[in-house]
Amino acid sequence: MANVLITGGSRGIGAACVRAFCARGDRVVFLYRTRTEDAQALATEVGAKALQADVTDPLAVEAAVEAACRHLGSIDVLVNNAGISQIKLFTDLSNEDWSRMLGTHLDGAFYVTRAVARHMIAQQGGRIVNVGSMWGKTGASCEVHYSTAKAGLRGLTMALAKELGPSHITVNAVEPGVIETEMNASLDAETRAALCDATPLCRMGTPAEVAAAVCFLASEDAAFITGQVLGVDGGFAI
Ligand code: NDP
Repeated sequence: MANVLITGGSRGIGAACVRAFCARGDRVVFLYRTRTEDAQALATEVGAKALQADVTDPLAVEAAVEAACRHLGSIDVLVNNAGISQIKLFTDLSNEDWSRMLGTHLDGAFYVTRAVARHMIAQQGGRIVNVGSMWGKTGASCEVHYSTAKAGLRGLTMALAKELGPSHITVNAVEPGVIETEMNASLDAETRAALCDATPLCRMGTPAEVAAAVCFLASEDAAFITGQVLGVDGGFAI
């Protein structure tokens, strides 16, 4: 049984991770930003604990990680999943758009991981799984800030794997393709069909399929895997 902290657990891929870890018998605390009703309903359903904390706020993150540690006793697994998306021409991006995107994905992962890594180093063990995106590998038109942030997560994953390896902490990432969540709810039928056409497995993925890969990288079976990026994209980014 592992003690697990997941960011962005109130819905989508994060919620699927909460369900998957709880189904394995693990103890889960998850963070969310605004959706208190969704978060509390999920927490009650699966026996997890939900904490409100915006990952772009370093003080809120420190307090939430301490609260998670007090509740769980330790943190064995961290899943950095919280994220946002925005489709906009590069030349139309405002400074705020850019900062919000990099702030959520990169500053957020940095604040949470730094706070958790201190505990993992003290306990000489742990698993960190970052949720990137295939766009961090291939780049996406009209999502330059998103692609940049996700490419940054690749760098964080590889560098941190080297630094934390001697403390028996693995750091890996999954890179989902097009997954059926609220993040893609605004896509029109034509765009969805085009994305499915571009996916060798000819469909969108499910949050549960991403969660299964996250659980694998957090498991004992993945004990000798670190610094790796696993595509969960139906072959899109081959
Ligand atoms: P959703 O939009 O469905 O859910 C996003 C989650 O992140 C919510 O729980 C939300 O909380 C939380 N969140 C957002 N911003 C913050 C913040 N500042 N602080 C704390 N929590 C925050 O997204 P998905 O499930 O689709 O995406 C999850 C991850 O997977 C993201 O990192 C995304 O980039 C990545 N991804 C998604 C793909 C897809 O096709 N869906 C493809 C590739 C990668 P709240 O509910 O309170 O707003």
